[in-house]
Amino acid sequence: MASRVQELPIAAEITSSGPAVISVENLVHRYGDRTALDGVSFDVGHAELFGLLGPNGSGKTTMFRILSTLMVPIGGHARILGHDVATEPNRLRQKIGIVFQSPSIDLKLTAFENLRHQGHLYGLRGSALKLRIQEMLARVGLADRANDKAETFSGGMQRRLELAKGLLHHPSVLLLDEPTTGLDPGARRDLWQYLHILRDEERVTVIVTTHLMEEAERCDRLVILNQGEVMALGTPFDLKSEIGGDVIWIEPARDVDGLAQRIGAKFNVRADIIGEEERSRKIRIEREQGHRFITELAESFPGEIQAISVSKPTLEDVFIRRTGHKFWTETSTER
Ligand code: ADP
Repeated sequence: MASRVQELPIAAEITSSGPAVISVENLVHRYGDRTALDGVSFDVGHAELFGLLGPNGSGKTTMFRILSTLMVPIGGHARILGHDVATEPNRLRQKIGIVFQSPSIDLKLTAFENLRHQGHLYGLRGSALKLRIQEMLARVGLADRANDKAETFSGGMQRRLELAKGLLHHPSVLLLDEPTTGLDPGARRDLWQYLHILRDEERVTVIVTTHLMEEAERCDRLVILNQGEVMALGTPFDLKSEIGGDVIWIEPARDVDGLAQRIGAKFNVRADIIGEEERSRKIRIEREQGHRFITELAESFPGEIQAISVSKPTLEDVFIRRTGHKFWTETSTER
């Protein structure tokens, strides 16, 4: 039968293993009458690399700003290391590191000077500060550039300096807002590698917002947001496992609705129609042994199928299954 959205339970896995380092409970935020977060809950465990994935406008930045104590939610609670972000921001700021999407380093200063200023803000001084700066610069691969102005650095190097800045005061929780924006693929890979090292060697709890599926895949667990609501929560593996089989996309030669209905009836599968604009509407089916199935499809509906593809499930499939629409709409400009 042809239909659009599949009804599913929201949470594959609500809690992380072990006590929560970050605990978000029924968080609500609105700007005027526009709802940005509509009752979001999740926990993040110690030394977990946790992702907030969602398309533009899904509420990631709002969540990031609340967690980093820059904004007070209008409802619900968020606690980090036992401190409420709304009522104990000052105590919390000493314990968390924040890396904003917009650059915060001073390009006219050297890497060393940037970190020295940051250290002073956190009350670090003298030889202890100098040692810590050298340690951090070595960690992010900038030891030999300590005395160069940040303006001479590549985008990836500037981001690594931002990271060193966010980590200088030994926070045990690091929050990053779309940290790879503007970086080339090599620099993106480096940054993610570094986040994994932070988790594994320093046991830092990391929460990172992203709109990129391939980045979300690298998280231990993630929450998928859509229009301020949690669409899915779990490990990338578990979330994709719910699809059970391959994903088949069919581009019909004509009459998408009729074809979807007949495929559904003939093979007893759900055939969802996905896409906003008439010309881009396609049929989507989840089915085991997709390759065998597409041969049968092509034989059963000769001349009615323009193109067909089969692939293993991705996080985008999880999003589509739960929302009934694509992660990137036809009007999205950014990818
Ligand atoms: P994301 O980071 O996922 O793109 P945001 O948290 O920025 O999402 O936005 C969530 C929703 O809140 C969107 O509908 C957005 O338009 C709205 N929003 C965000 N910031 C403001 C603001 N300062 N004033 C009014 N609406 C806003």
